[in-house]
Amino acid sequence: MPCYRCGTRQVDPEPGKSSPWRRGVVREHQVLVCPDCQPAALAELDRCAGCGSTHLIRRLDQVECLDCRLTRDPSAPDAPAAADAPSAPDAPDAGGGPDPALAAEVARAVARVFGRA
Ligand SMILES: [Zn+2]
Ligand SMILES: [Zn+2]
Repeated sequence: MPCYRCGTRQVDPEPGKSSPWRRGVVREHQVLVCPDCQPAALAELDRCAGCGSTHLIRRLDQVECLDCRLTRDPSAPDAPAAADAPSAPDAPDAGGGPDPALAAEVARAVARVFGRA
């Protein structure tokens, strides 16, 4: 797996030496950080919620802290998922509009009132 930042491919460490590459997790993805990208890239790594360590590894469905062994479920959303907006209730049926006879009566009344004004 290459360095997630610069794409440099990891070379096997010399016998007896531990690799200077760092493993970490960025946005739930397991990544490797080459020595050249350290320590800048380390600031971008996800941190353990318990101890703040960047020494995390991605397991099947969890991210585990190698320092304190805290595991968390990466699928847990940061924000509650937006619930589907309930469909708006049907608008009340207009019922074909006001009664034509009543409308005419009102129109005549209005005409009388304004006719006298
Ligand atoms: Zn790199
Ligand atoms: Zn931890």
